[in-house]
Amino acid sequence: MVTAVVGANWGDEGKGKITDTLANDADIVIRFQGGANAGHTIVNEYGKFALHTLPSGVFHQNIMNIIGNGVALDIPKLVAEIKSITDRDVPKPNIIVSDRCQVVMPYHVLFDQCEEERLGKKSFGSTKSGIAPFYSDKYAKIGFQVNELFDDDYLVDKLTQVLDSKNVILEHLYHKEPLKLDDILKTMHEYRDMIKPYVCDVSAYLYEAIKEGKNILLEGQLGTLKDPDHGIYPMVTSSSTLAGFGAIGAGIPPYEIKKIITVNKAYSSAVGAGVFTSEIFGEEADELRRRGGDGGEFGATTGRPRRVGWYDCVASKYGCRLQGTTDVAFTVLDVLGYLDEIPVCTGYEVDGKVVTDFPVTLVTEKAKPVFEKLPGWKCDIRGIKKYEDLPLNCRKYIEFIEEKIGFPITIISNGPGRDDIIYRESPLK
Ligand code: GDP
Repeated sequence: MVTAVVGANWGDEGKGKITDTLANDADIVIRFQGGANAGHTIVNEYGKFALHTLPSGVFHQNIMNIIGNGVALDIPKLVAEIKSITDRDVPKPNIIVSDRCQVVMPYHVLFDQCEEERLGKKSFGSTKSGIAPFYSDKYAKIGFQVNELFDDDYLVDKLTQVLDSKNVILEHLYHKEPLKLDDILKTMHEYRDMIKPYVCDVSAYLYEAIKEGKNILLEGQLGTLKDPDHGIYPMVTSSSTLAGFGAIGAGIPPYEIKKIITVNKAYSSAVGAGVFTSEIFGEEADELRRRGGDGGEFGATTGRPRRVGWYDCVASKYGCRLQGTTDVAFTVLDVLGYLDEIPVCTGYEVDGKVVTDFPVTLVTEKAKPVFEKLPGWKCDIRGIKKYEDLPLNCRKYIEFIEEKIGFPITIISNGPGRDDIIYRESPLK
């Protein structure tokens, strides 16, 4: 059976932790989109890890971890990331990479930096990992698939052609030195040798695995609101963050995805620019940021302080709907234990009217949050294993949100560790 673990919001919802927990019963974990620009934080018996490209199954020796064709593959970063975990005594994980996966080229990172510099104040707040130039080239059909690294004549021909146009832009738009074919070719040869042990026909592998009834997890990066079509365009990422894209980015039939677990955090957070209606500021925000996540809300890849806000029912209902949610995993709930009252954003006021369906970006930018306050539970809920043992106000908070978003909250995460998890029968199921 194939299960997708995806995000409802701006990312950082705790997908890594949920995937790592569910991986106990999985045979295969697949990354199907995005690149090394975001990260998952995972806490387990080996310690605390920030993963960027590696699937979250790498800590389980019985799991095959797959980098699907939809991923923006930064080969040196992948290799360094494997080393960074094996250096910390994690046994060497099983990893395969799709032969159709495309490669983040050295100039993608350079173009990302140049473009953000050029845009100045109007920049996208990119992590400058080359992701936007990578996907632009992929769809402009001038990207490089992993398998192409193994055909030297083809590589030289294509690189010559691609560098011609890249150099015009580099020299005349960004005023930088042109790229030299020999330098890039040498790097490509290094990349080829690094990736060789992992290359595989992934869709064929998965076809057999599905036939054998293997348990497969698709692991999304970021969340619905960062999807290039359904998110807060243009402040989005460059590949689809939706479970539906899992079929394409891994190479499996769409109807095989039977379960879609959409991860929602019990409050909101976002890294980078873009509309965020329920955002809070000042001392109230500083306190939530300090207490949030596992040791503060700071980006796993960038270390940037995350913007924080209260739970947003409008954005999350939409986020869950677009994912095709069968189950909601509600995370980081333990963090809210310090609050007397917890505001929840239940509507957006737009031009004097309150709406509960998430609007298009230009309208959302005008929206003001409508908050309702729920009583807090004022205690530490870590360590609780049964839903009934959660404090009444905590259950009320969960049930209030479940009713507002209309999707069943069946998994509750009350701490960063693998075992900090509560399963629940939802009345909506
Ligand atoms: P992802 O990209 O969706 O995997 O999210 P991140 O890993 O970037 O951010 C989630 C943060 O919250 C990480 O620091 C996790 O260790 C932490 N985390 C996940 N679930 C919980 C939880 O239930 N409670 C607490 N306190 N922290 C959690």
